[in-house]
Amino acid sequence: MIYNSSMQAVRETKYTQAIIDVLAELGHGTNSDIATKLRESYPDVSDTTVHRATTRLAERGQISVGPRDIDGSLRYDANTEPHDHFICTGCRGIRDIDIAKEIMPIVQEALGGCGVDGRLEIKGLCIHCNERRAK
Ligand SMILES: [Zn+2]
Ligand SMILES: [Zn+2]
Repeated sequence: MIYNSSMQAVRETKYTQAIIDVLAELGHGTNSDIATKLRESYPDVSDTTVHRATTRLAERGQISVGPRDIDGSLRYDANTEPHDHFICTGCRGIRDIDIAKEIMPIVQEALGGCGVDGRLEIKGLCIHCNERRAK
C-alpha cells in the first residue's frame, strides 16, 4: 500500500509541470480538455492522474478554478489573478475580461446601494459564432 501511494506521488509530480504548461496554453480547460491535450505528449496519462493533479494545483493556488463549462464540468483557469469572463454558449469558448471595476458601481446603484462583490460571468455568442450564424 505504501509502495503504491508513493509511486503514485512520483507519477503525479512528473505530470504537474506538464499540466501547468498545458493549461497555460489552453487558458481555461476542464480535466477532460487538459487530459486530451496532455495525451499528445503522454499517451498513457490517466484521467484520475489529471484529476488528482489539478485538484492539488488548485488547492496550492498554482492554477485557479474558473467558471464551469456549459455542461457543468469544473473548468480550471491558468490565470490566478481575479478577473471576469465572457463565455460563448455557441462554442463553449471562454475569454478573460476585466470589467468589474467599471460595472459593479452601476449594479450597486441599480440595487439602491446594496453592496456587491465577486466577479462577472457574461454569456453570449462570440464573434466567430456570430459570423457563422450570419452566413
Ligand atoms: Zn463561440
Ligand atoms: Zn479566466
